[in-house]
Amino acid sequence: MALSRIALLSLALASVASAEPVIGSLRPSIGLYLGPAPGMSPLVQSAMRAEVEALLDSTGLLLDWRLLGTQTGTEVHTNLYVIRFRGHCHTRDLRVLYSELGPYGDPTILGLSHTSDNNILPFGQIDCDNVRRSIAAAALSREESQREAVLGRALGRVFAHELFHMMTGRSGHSRKGVFKASQRREDLTSARLEFETGELEELRQLARRIAGHKQN
Ligand SMILES: [Zn+2]
Repeated sequence: MALSRIALLSLALASVASAEPVIGSLRPSIGLYLGPAPGMSPLVQSAMRAEVEALLDSTGLLLDWRLLGTQTGTEVHTNLYVIRFRGHCHTRDLRVLYSELGPYGDPTILGLSHTSDNNILPFGQIDCDNVRRSIAAAALSREESQREAVLGRALGRVFAHELFHMMTGRSGHSRKGVFKASQRREDLTSARLEFETGELEELRQLARRIAGHKQN
């Protein structure tokens, strides 16, 4: 099994899923199953989810957030994705590390989507330690009470990036926005970062296909 990855400075990504939606009259509900996230506070998780929701708000996709292992067997989702977390998903002990390679250090894997036979699978992963490290300088410059929101927003952007890979099956990246290959500290911590217009339209088309509507 190969891995696709979003990196801080360079991103090697694998590819293409055929997340073929279910055709029918169902409301486009996307099941998002979260694995254990060590140390992630409710505030960080809330900020992460809010960022993902905001980024996909105009697409018409309904996100149904669940914790892995709590499913009852009665859930109905048209598409289902699993995201796992590695490392420490909290803001304690943040430290700024400097590198001879430059202010951002070595290329760092922030998230990845699993692939098999060049198909992107509905299983993603976020590396909390690397996200923490990449935003540490920005987070430490904020009031302590704001740091969790900063981390949550950054995690949400990495989450949305990987989710886009999994939902569309696309391995190639954009030149700017949430779906570009390399996400710098400024990208993860800025007040706003968006998908590009074409990407949002792609997700709207996905929502329409899931809902069983014909595209114009
Ligand atoms: Zn990517």
